[in-house]
Order: sequence, then C-alpha cells, then structure tokens
Amino acid sequence: MSKVIKNKLIIFQVSVSIIALLILLNILNGPVTYDYNDWIIIYSMSGGAVLLYFWTIRLMPTGHGFSMDSSLFLSSLFLFGIHTSLLILLISSLFYYVYDKGRNFSKHIGNFSNYLLALSIAYYFFILFGGDFGRIEPTNLYPYIISLSIFMLVNTIYVAIYFSINNKERINKIIKSMFVVAIPSYALNLLISMVLSILIFYYQVFGLFLFLVIAVLLSITFKRHYEYYNEAQKRAIKDQLTGLYNHGYFEDKLEEQCQLAKETNQFLCLALIDIDDFKKFNDTYGHYRGDQLLKFIAQMLKQDSIKHGWFVARYGGEEFTYIMPGIDEHEAFLIINKLRKKVNDTYFEGVEVLPYGCISFSAGVTQFDTESTFDKSILLDHADQAMYYAKAQGKNQVRIYDESIKTDHSLDIEENIARLEQPLNFFLAKDVYTYQHSKRVYQYATEFSLKLELPIYERKTLILGALIHDIGKIEIPREILNKKEKLTDNEWQMVKNHVVWGREIISKHPHLHDLEPLVELHHERFDGKGYPHGLTGYNIPKLARILCIVDSFDAMTTERPYQKTRTFDEAIVELRRCAGTQFDPEYVEPFIEMIKENHYKDDLAVNASGE
Ligand code: GH3
Ligand code: MG
Ligand code: MG
Repeated sequence: MSKVIKNKLIIFQVSVSIIALLILLNILNGPVTYDYNDWIIIYSMSGGAVLLYFWTIRLMPTGHGFSMDSSLFLSSLFLFGIHTSLLILLISSLFYYVYDKGRNFSKHIGNFSNYLLALSIAYYFFILFGGDFGRIEPTNLYPYIISLSIFMLVNTIYVAIYFSINNKERINKIIKSMFVVAIPSYALNLLISMVLSILIFYYQVFGLFLFLVIAVLLSITFKRHYEYYNEAQKRAIKDQLTGLYNHGYFEDKLEEQCQLAKETNQFLCLALIDIDDFKKFNDTYGHYRGDQLLKFIAQMLKQDSIKHGWFVARYGGEEFTYIMPGIDEHEAFLIINKLRKKVNDTYFEGVEVLPYGCISFSAGVTQFDTESTFDKSILLDHADQAMYYAKAQGKNQVRIYDESIKTDHSLDIEENIARLEQPLNFFLAKDVYTYQHSKRVYQYATEFSLKLELPIYERKTLILGALIHDIGKIEIPREILNKKEKLTDNEWQMVKNHVVWGREIISKHPHLHDLEPLVELHHERFDGKGYPHGLTGYNIPKLARILCIVDSFDAMTTERPYQKTRTFDEAIVELRRCAGTQFDPEYVEPFIEMIKENHYKDDLAVNASGE
C-alpha cells in the first residue's frame, strides 16, 4: 500500500472515530437510569451480540459469513432506544476486544465507529418518521423500514469510502455493486430484527435465549453444509487416481489463462506430456502396477509444478498438461526438458521393459500468440502436434510447435521408408512375391490411412508397418516360401511363426518399436481365432486390425503358387462375409470404398482373364 493511500485511510478512520466518540459521549451522558432487570437485558444482549458475531451463517459458494449481530442492535434500538443500544454496542465491543486481542486495534475501532454512526443516524430517522420505540405496533412498521434502510446505507457508505481509498475506485460504482448484492440480506436483517424484537418484547431474556439457540444451530448447520460443499467442490475438479486436477478443470483454467494472456499481453505456454510406451508397462505388469506408476509420475509432475507455481492436470489416460503463464516457449522448453531428464533418472520397479529402460515421455510445447491463437483449442492442437512430432522423432524428447512440423512429418516418413526398404530388398532375390506384396500393402495402407483421416502419427506407423509387416519371412527357407504343393503341418507352423520372428527382428531397433504390434499381430482375427496369441476384438491394436484387412485383401487378389486368385469383386464379397469374424467390421466398408475409388483398374485377375 502506498504511503498516500495509507495516510488517507488513517485520516478517514480517525475522523469517523472522533465523530463516533463525540456522539457516544453526548448520548451516554443523557439522563437515563437502569434497574436490575434492565441490566440483565443489557448484559444478555451484549453477550448475544458477541455470540452472533462469531456464529455466522456461511453462504455458498464464497463462504462469506452472514452475521445477525446487526439485527440484534437494531432490535435493541427499536425496543429500548439509542441510549441502551449504544451501551450494548459498547459492552459487546469491549467483550469482543478482550476475546480477540489478536485483531488489529484500529479494526476494532473502525467496526465500532461504523456501527455507532449507523445506529445513531438510523435512530434519528426512526424518530423523525414517527417511530415510537418500546412498542410493537403496526404503526411502527414504516419508520422501522426507513431506519433499517438508513442503517444499511450508512454502513455501505462507510465500507465504500474505505474501499474507494484503498482500491482507487469510484465510490458510487462500489455503492451500486454492493447494493445489488446486499439487498436480500438487508431485507432479511430487517425481518430478523422484527422477530427478535417481538420475542424480547413478550418473553424478555427467554425470548433472546430462544433466538440465540436457533441462530447458533443455524450457524452450525450452514457451516457443515459449507464444508460438504467445499469437499465436493474439491473432488469435482480432481482426478481420482492421481490427485491432480482433471480434464474438465484444466479446460476451464486454460480458457481463463488464454483470456488473461489476451488482455494483458503476457506470455503463456502450454505443454502436453504423453508417457512413452505406457501400454507396454501395463501389458507386462497389469493395470494395478500401471496405476501405481501413473501415480508416481503424477507426483513428480506435481512437485515440479509447485516449485514453478504452474498448473498441472491429468489430461487423460497417460497424458498430462502444464499451463505455464509468464514464460516464453524457449524457457518452457528448457524446463520441461529438464523435467524429462529428471524423470529418466528416477527409477521405478519394472521400467526395464520400456524401450529406453527408464520412464520417459514425449512432450509438445507451444506458446500463446495473440495474432494466430484465437482460442484454447488451437493452443491445444499445436501442443498436440508438437507432441506427436516428438513421438515420431523417436520419443523421449520435447518439441516446440512451429509451422514446419507438418511438412517435416512427410519428410520424416520418406526417410524412414528409404531405410526400411533396404531389408525389404533382400526379398527381391529370395522371395519376390513377398517383396511385391509388401509394396502393394504399403500402397493400400498409405491411401487407406488418408481415407480414414488418421492422425499423422498413426498414419506413419500404419504405412511403415505395412511395408515391413512380413519381415519375419526372411527366416523361412526359400523352398517353403516357393513350394507349390500343400504345406505340411510343420512347414505351416514355420510360416505362421514369421510374425514372432518379425517382431524379434525389429525389436533390436528402438526407433521401430511402434511397428512391433503391426508386425506381430496382423494375423490376429477379430473373433479370436487368429495367431500368434488368439487376441479378440479391441484387444488387438487398431492399426493391426486395419492392417489385417489390407494384407488379406492383397493376399486374396494376387497370384499365389497354391491358391486361386480372386477378382476384386470376389475379394470384396469375401471381406464382407468375414466382417465381424476375421475382420473388424468398422473398417471393412471404408476399405472397400477406397478400393473402388482408386484401384478397380488394377484388378489383376480381371485383366489376366481378358474381361
Ligand atoms: P506411446 O509411446 O505411443 O504414447 O505409447 P503408449 O503405449 O504410451 O500409448 P497408447 O496410447 O498406445 O496407450 C496408452 C495406454 O495407457 C493404454 C492404456 O492401457 C494405458 N492407460 C490409460 N489410462 C490408464 C489408467 O488409468 N491406468 C492404467 N494402468 N493404464 C492406463
Ligand atoms: Mg497417449
Ligand atoms: Mg503414451
């Protein structure tokens, strides 16, 4: 707080206190005497005021306390006049001061002066409008309402002046907004003070006692409700497993921060973190251990975010988000990268099975840019693309989003294709059929992935997987591959084993890790009758289910030593026949559409028969 503001506040408070003191001395000096019963009421009401000050009614959602002590002062005003009311105010303020010495003395004085002024002026208006204190009469109703309104007005003006000095806001604006919020509670105060007046008028101390018991019980009930509400509120924004904030709350927070970045022109960064190969950990040790690892990672992220004062949430499954206000993307990159190394260096039992032999993640970082980032969904999309780029580049790394990421992707695919074609060329000499088949399946997969509008990362995996899916056949003797007669059981077993050998071959190359499921599982069937594991339905990874259709279609429609060639139309009938048994039915029709759109002219069987 600046010195000028501080001085202004002191002048304001001292002047109000002096006025209040003068009024107090003037009124208490008056010729009023009390008997024994009066003193009982005065002390009881003073005690009651302190009680009501502490036992407030907590209002949701802010938890602000609605205090009924002003109702008590007002009813004392209506019943006993200003002299007694100020006496009750003075005694209760002294009680309160003794009880709560920790509070700043000037606050006690401020509170006291505020009430004193409001009560005195309200009383003056009560009398002015024909009010007759000490009587419960309908004729008093009008002056009651006037004097309560004045009481609230003085109260509001006092608080508004205080805030306008403190926050440099216009006083009438503050008064207006306070009134809008406070009118229902003002009305409630008026009614409560009337009820209390009636109770005390007819039943004296017992009436007051009844009222206080109700007030305290109400206060306890509301407090409990507020605590439950708070607890439920906390739970609604947290993720149960990890204790981090959940997706819904993250979206709200991001919206808020984007708005703030727009208004203040301050930096804002978003990072999307995806744990590498988490499925492998789950598959090896089961979901329970997987959950433990997720919790462990979440804890590390939480500690890190607390250190920097950032917001971290569980975005979904094994994905997390960081909202980082106040820094640019380069700083964000450095920090997330440091976190990545720390995560790499932190041991968790079982991480040996992961391709890097440690916990790792891929992350995308992006920065809010007022020019191009219109809303949070674009920011998220950029972080997502950068994260997938990090995955495509071999995982366990952090990438900053920039426009070139999209074009880089295609280059990346081409470079990988060139690399994968080298082992494929071995087939040229040994088994030209497999060579050509792989090339065709690769072509179909490329077109089908576009038709399905797969994300770039999945597209790349499917295309490369299609190219390399039969690599295990390198291990099968040439005689068996080219045998025209029916295969023996042993030979057939060996052919089936190509999926396992294929996976073993590529598992030696960490950068091909994503292709392993495609190589190993492209002969699994949707109904569970496939090999090598007999997996069923959605237990088979999506891309392997897709590759199975593409691979089978090509096998049906090309010439084989021991099998009749089907026309495209015949193969389409077969695909439809086996949808739901051999194939995932979801992808059969889109694949047939793609074939009809792009490949009818290539129908070898039709061309060969001269139709
Ligand atoms: P990548 O490196 O490409 O990200 O591979 P990944 O295996 O991490 O990714 P993928 O998206 O293929 O699999 C994510 C896995 O996360 C699948 C699911 O079994 C696992 N998972 C998601 N949520 C939970 C969870 O709450 N608990 C456990 N134990 N596993 C989860
Ligand atoms: Mg994921
Ligand atoms: Mg993952």
